[in-house]
Amino acid sequence: SLSTDIVVVGAGPAGCMVAKTAAELGVNVLLLEEHPSPGLPVFCGEAISEKTLVEAGLCPETSIISQSIRKAHVYTPNGKQVTIENDRSRGYIINRHIFDARLSEDAVTAGARLMVNTRAVDVIRRGGVVVGVKAERGDEQFIIWSTLVIGADGHASMVRRQALGIPYFKSYGVCAQYTLSGLNLEPDAVEIWLGRKYAPGCYAWMFPKSQNVANVGISVLAKHATKPVIQYLQDFISQNPKLRDGVIISKTGGMCPTTGTLDQVVGDGVMLVGVAAG
Ligand SMILES: Cc1cc2nc3c(=O)[nH]c(=O)nc-3n(C[C@H](O)[C@H](O)[C@H](O)COP(=O)(O)OP(=O)(O)OC[C@H]3O[C@@H](n4cnc5c(N)ncnc54)[C@H](O)[C@@H]3O)c2cc1C
Repeated sequence: SLSTDIVVVGAGPAGCMVAKTAAELGVNVLLLEEHPSPGLPVFCGEAISEKTLVEAGLCPETSIISQSIRKAHVYTPNGKQVTIENDRSRGYIINRHIFDARLSEDAVTAGARLMVNTRAVDVIRRGGVVVGVKAERGDEQFIIWSTLVIGADGHASMVRRQALGIPYFKSYGVCAQYTLSGLNLEPDAVEIWLGRKYAPGCYAWMFPKSQNVANVGISVLAKHATKPVIQYLQDFISQNPKLRDGVIISKTGGMCPTTGTLDQVVGDGVMLVGVAAG
């Protein structure tokens, strides 16, 4: 077994930021990631604001930034186009796996210990207080004792389920995304389609990674979906002359809670951060 002040479950952006912050304050932090490298696989449209990049403590260097964004074309349900553009705010389409890798490096530089290929499988309680996690790495099973367990383990959070008894969110969007190449785009403009024609309850997006490549995705509110989300995505792309001849170079998807932050995100010895918390 191991012991530490804080065990952070999940080395996504939320887990890395909380691990870095705690380590900078002189606390012993163990950061667990079930995959071999933080940031992979990517489940993201990769669009962030400049403010997010700054708050993450990162610079807009070329390995992180795929494309700078200066405007957004928003298509309303009645077919109108609204363009949002100003000199003060900027966005980026990032290389999310590099963004996450940088955040994990910063956490380690601050003093956190990162354990990859390590999955937290349960929380341990003593007298109702969470005092650690059970973890697995390969065939090895071990216990990590800690004063605080932080669940940064994404939308399906084991920590949320096991420690706080909250199985899932009451409302969530189901997402599917293709990265398409062979396009001819306005590279510094994201495009968003609102309304039930394409994406009931949520929206469809086109986030350019360059003039020729874009993340094209859709999120549909689960309770409004009448067909699989991949079908919504394919129907949306086939109806869009700018996108329909694109070549699929990768596919991803996932779930996004739409409830906002949960009412309960802390318990004795435990707290949730990031999308685990809503
Ligand atoms: C299709 C899609 C497109 C999106 N597009 C955008 C976008 O363009 N811009 C944007 O800002 N947001 C976007 N989002 C949302 C964004 O991806 C999430 O808000 C963000 O990743 C949440 O970060 P997090 O650190 O809370 O969780 P995550 O990024 O989910 O990280 C959780 C980490 O925990 C690890 N983990 C999980 N369980 C365990 C366990 N038991 N033990 C150890 N490790 C574990 C996972 O491997 C993962 O690395 C999108 C989401 C989806 C699904």
